Amino acid sequence: MGYYWPFLLQNIVGDNKMTRTVEVDIVILGGGVFGLWLLNRLRQAGFGAILFESNTLGGGQTYKSQGIIHGGMKYALHGNWTESAQTIADMPTVWKQCLEGKGDIDLSHVPIISPHQHLWSSSKLTTKLTKFFANFALKSRITYLEKVDYPSIFQHPDFKGEVYALDEMVIDIPALIRELAKPHQDVIFKISPFKEDQLHIDKNQNITYLEATTLSGEKLQIHAQRYVFAAGAGNEMIIKKLKYPDVAMQRRALHMVLVKIPFAHSLYAHCLSLGSMLPRITITTHQTRDNQLAWYIGGQLAEEGIHRDSKTQITTAQKELRQLFPWLDFSAAQFTSFMIDRIEPLQPNGKRPDGVFLKSINNMIIAWPTKLALAPKLTNDIMQHLRQEQLSPCKHDTRELRAWPIPPLAKPVWDELLC
Ligand SMILES: Cc1cc2nc3c(=O)[nH]c(=O)nc-3n(C[C@H](O)[C@H](O)[C@H](O)COP(=O)(O)OP(=O)(O)OC[C@H]3O[C@@H](n4cnc5c(N)ncnc54)[C@H](O)[C@@H]3O)c2cc1C
Repeated sequence: MGYYWPFLLQNIVGDNKMTRTVEVDIVILGGGVFGLWLLNRLRQAGFGAILFESNTLGGGQTYKSQGIIHGGMKYALHGNWTESAQTIADMPTVWKQCLEGKGDIDLSHVPIISPHQHLWSSSKLTTKLTKFFANFALKSRITYLEKVDYPSIFQHPDFKGEVYALDEMVIDIPALIRELAKPHQDVIFKISPFKEDQLHIDKNQNITYLEATTLSGEKLQIHAQRYVFAAGAGNEMIIKKLKYPDVAMQRRALHMVLVKIPFAHSLYAHCLSLGSMLPRITITTHQTRDNQLAWYIGGQLAEEGIHRDSKTQITTAQKELRQLFPWLDFSAAQFTSFMIDRIEPLQPNGKRPDGVFLKSINNMIIAWPTKLALAPKLTNDIMQHLRQEQLSPCKHDTRELRAWPIPPLAKPVWDELLC
């Protein structure tokens, strides 16, 4: 494990090979949005829960996300209110309540960086789409904007398209992770990534304990009633170890682009093209450490860009932006790009899953939210599962972990790559 705990040495009585133990109700592995959300709910419910993070809090997919609290519109764009769209439809309301301090978790200190994600087309939307927007399920989720209400970038006389406001806000992800972790710093611990041989599993596929080792070689056994694998890509380790046929993971890559823009247009929008109902590009805007604005660009550009090297991806993005915003000068903009995987349960043909994934195997739970916006739903599903199993809070003695370090917060990708 690689950490020195002075208190352990004090506690060694006689035999310095003596094994120390920690007993809690629930151990969570992984400090992304899901692990932290779950930790909050479990502790509110009185469970003795602790969380281990092997790197930085939020530093997996969570800090690389665009922070859009999807309500399903993006998935409904091909003309049907799909299962994916339905699953995620309630999420903006759930998050709004939390952001107003009236929900399951108090997120009233997390800034909403845009109240709406917009949808724009560079030419008139098709009749099919206009008809689709008239659909009852969507009417309350999308608002046609008059020019006066357009984001500043579309106020230009050369812009000829249409703009809609979606009922999907964009939130400040670093602040979200900070606020989720803040009340629970006493039970969040940094570890080195668990290796297979540190997970002790009996012949009935139950975890008997997790094993940690101090710098001085003492062993610490961590016993829990349940072990929740909320480690994103890190869940692969337990899946391999168990060789359980019903759980498999997929990685869907994206080649994201970041642009430090030389003008003051914050933009939160999906661009629709007439050829495809997938957003051609999805832009969110973030403030960098040196007080500049960065556009963070995903969408089809990022999905198709996985076969391009960084230089070609940047050239493609520059061409796209020049085409979409011919009235803007990008010559002084700073571009960069990077690849990142979305981590999901394996789907036929590697498609996007419709909703959250949760698999309970004896005293383990393996889960992926598949969307940041779905972390509250996945947590609700787990709480319900624990109620059904009649798991009740009973153990919480973390004294042996008192001197264990807390993982730091991650660094936003726009600061890491553009500053
Ligand atoms: C480019 C991109 C943009 C996205 N945009 C959006 C968006 O706008 N809206 C939206 O709803 N969703 C979005 N998503 C999806 C969203 O980011 C993820 O679904 C969500 O963040 C997953 O959270 P998580 O906590 O499950 O995983 P992660 O954030 O990946 O966290 C897992 C954590 O586990 C830790 N870990 C790994 N192995 C171990 C181990 N062995 N022991 C302990 N800890 C371990 C990792 O260090 C990490 O901190 C986006 C994803 C990507 C890639």
